[in-house]
Amino acid sequence: MGETVQQFFAVKAKIAAAEQEGRREAGAVTLVAVSKTFDAADIRPVIEAGQRVFGENRVQEAQGKWPGLKQAFPDIELHLIGPLQSNKAKEAVALFDVIETVDREKIVAELAKEIARQGRAPQLYVQVNTGSEPQKAGIEPRDAVAFVARCRDVHGLAIEGLMCIPPADENPGPHFALLEKLAREAGVAKLSMGMSGDYETAIAFGATSVRVGSAIFGSR
Ligand SMILES: *Cc1c(COP(=O)(O)O)cnc(C)c1O
Repeated sequence: MGETVQQFFAVKAKIAAAEQEGRREAGAVTLVAVSKTFDAADIRPVIEAGQRVFGENRVQEAQGKWPGLKQAFPDIELHLIGPLQSNKAKEAVALFDVIETVDREKIVAELAKEIARQGRAPQLYVQVNTGSEPQKAGIEPRDAVAFVARCRDVHGLAIEGLMCIPPADENPGPHFALLEKLAREAGVAKLSMGMSGDYETAIAFGATSVRVGSAIFGSR
């Protein structure tokens, strides 16, 4: 077994242990394997080991490797976890099954247009900038609940989840707790939070999916 596949199984085992520890149902947490910067040859063994849910942070990079892999493995679920430019909405709707980074009205309008045009409806999550970091994407926490309602009421788009990336230099727990609270207030069921360094903490705070890259594929 290759090193990547061993690391993949180790992460799966840690997720299962964290589910048990946090009194979560077994299988309640989806692993999104983040394959950015790695190519199809690196990704394929992880698919063959049983993984089906993957995350990429750039539309253009994903277009280079995923159409072929999705053809070979039709049950792959691909998540966009990086910022979406409105001029890439068409490509994103065509390729991704979940778009986790909806964070402004202009993007919502573009997505609504493409979803109607293509007859393809990826699940949508709203990214929340829980640390209000100026350089980071995401909607401000105080605006999140109203934004989710506007996506539904003004644009006819259901938001299924919230996503956050806590500030790198802070204890992530309070950020995960804030995201969970906002999701409850907004009536949203899915919580995408936790990366290689903190996914077990995120599971304790109620994550329904964790986005793990380097702990599986190695450093980038
Ligand atoms: C790269 C990335 C991850 C994975 O990060 P690791 O620390 O390598 O697990 C998760 N979420 C987002 C939004 C990312 O861009």
